[in-house]
Amino acid sequence: MSNAYDVIVNGASAAGCTAAILYAQRGARVALLERRADPSAHKVLCTHYIQASAHPVMVETGLAAELERAGAIANTAHYWTRWGWIQPPHDETSTHGYSVRRQTLDPLLRRLAATTKGVDLKLGHTVNGLLREADRVVGVEGTAGRERFALHAPLVVGADGKDSTVAQLAGAAAETTDNNRFSYFAYFRGLPRHQDNAARVYYLEPDNAYVMPNEDGVTVVAAVVSKDRLEEFKDDLEGAYTKFVRSLPDGPDFDRAERISKIIGTLNYPLTSRVPAGPGWALIGDAALTSDPLSAVGCAWAMQSAHWLVTETSDALTAADQPGDSSAAVDEATGRYRARHAQETGPHHHLIADFATARPFNEIEEFSFSAAARDPEMAAHFHTFGSRLMTVEEFLAPDVVAHMEKVNGHGLSEETLRLLAGEGEQPPRHTATQDEFAGATR
Ligand SMILES: Cc1cc2nc3c(=O)[nH]c(=O)nc-3n(C[C@H](O)[C@H](O)[C@H](O)COP(=O)(O)OP(=O)(O)OC[C@H]3O[C@@H](n4cnc5c(N)ncnc54)[C@H](O)[C@@H]3O)c2cc1C
Repeated sequence: MSNAYDVIVNGASAAGCTAAILYAQRGARVALLERRADPSAHKVLCTHYIQASAHPVMVETGLAAELERAGAIANTAHYWTRWGWIQPPHDETSTHGYSVRRQTLDPLLRRLAATTKGVDLKLGHTVNGLLREADRVVGVEGTAGRERFALHAPLVVGADGKDSTVAQLAGAAAETTDNNRFSYFAYFRGLPRHQDNAARVYYLEPDNAYVMPNEDGVTVVAAVVSKDRLEEFKDDLEGAYTKFVRSLPDGPDFDRAERISKIIGTLNYPLTSRVPAGPGWALIGDAALTSDPLSAVGCAWAMQSAHWLVTETSDALTAADQPGDSSAAVDEATGRYRARHAQETGPHHHLIADFATARPFNEIEEFSFSAAARDPEMAAHFHTFGSRLMTVEEFLAPDVVAHMEKVNGHGLSEETLRLLAGEGEQPPRHTATQDEFAGATR
């Protein structure tokens, strides 16, 4: 069957728009489907701190330039810990991401996608079925208003968020773990800002909070609280949220600000990791991996996973118009994407998922956080890791651990050192990293 499109992308948000733009830039014909009909619709449940790891992708799609024009904040962060503030040195040339409200980001991304030659944005199109030939996915079907539609392509990409329809219909295997914190946030105008417009992240053990400046003088303030305190917030959300954010150590001066939104939040947000590809289908963004909002990796990984997928598959898809069966080449390409996704996100997500249990700090966390609070070089290292610009192995490399030891004036226990060195009774190296270095990040 001849295809009008080389690829169908379902969901026009952070992941889907990025993928559509990148595919079209490489010559592919893209159908970008979005169930919401309003081009200015945006995701509400998000505090939109986009990590620096996505900066190169945002430059490539043209989003970075658009965000700067829209007044997005070039972001950095300071971190409150019981050892004091971790303040990474900062200058204008530091690698950064952006903080920008979704009401600005989402319409802008969608416009950028719609105006990219080769992208056919179809708003108000809801996918509710996959077309199959033998065991392959070969297209989608759904509804647009009262009409039904069907589209064919050699690859269907689910960029349709944490409850992904494409993932469910394709039968993607999923692993879900608990999140033992809940979160509520609100927007303020007039909140005094800190040095470098830095976001402030509070490690209150086990609770967390963050205060993040955005465009247009607006700041988002989030309380990320252990579920032990659920009743307190259920009984009196307004009172509990206000008391929580006003009691932050060295916290912002709320008396000088005006709250301009409702208190928005979610009580239960489990983390879900899915196998991100199969015959004729692939998943990106939250559809592939819904991590903990506390780590603020969702938007960056949505854009980066789009980039990994497009890099691996665009050649196979644009060659699919040639005579002959292209399925094997497409499957090989999505197989490479699957491996890349696991390699890039796996160890980070393991740490994040472990920290989401809201357990007390472990030895490595105490060791690395205290070093970062005491030493500017370690503060920069800590921030680079939190910005997902560094692997877990790099974060805890032997020379770094030696430096932390000097700064702290004491070392790690023999047992932990043996684990870091990959010795003793433990599974293969990378698995040990995931399990044993658990929780060394926010
Ligand atoms: C409380 C909270 C705070 C967060 N804070 C941050 C943060 O500070 N920084 C950060 O990076 N991330 C944060 N995140 C995570 C971030 O919001 C997501 O990771 C990100 O939006 C994922 O983008 P996506 O494109 O994969 O999915 P989504 O943004 O969820 O988009 C999915 C799209 O698919 C469409 N769709 C769904 N089903 C269908 C269908 N059947 N047919 C057609 N279209 C469909 C939807 O309408 C939507 O447009 C937060 C999340 C929460 C819950």
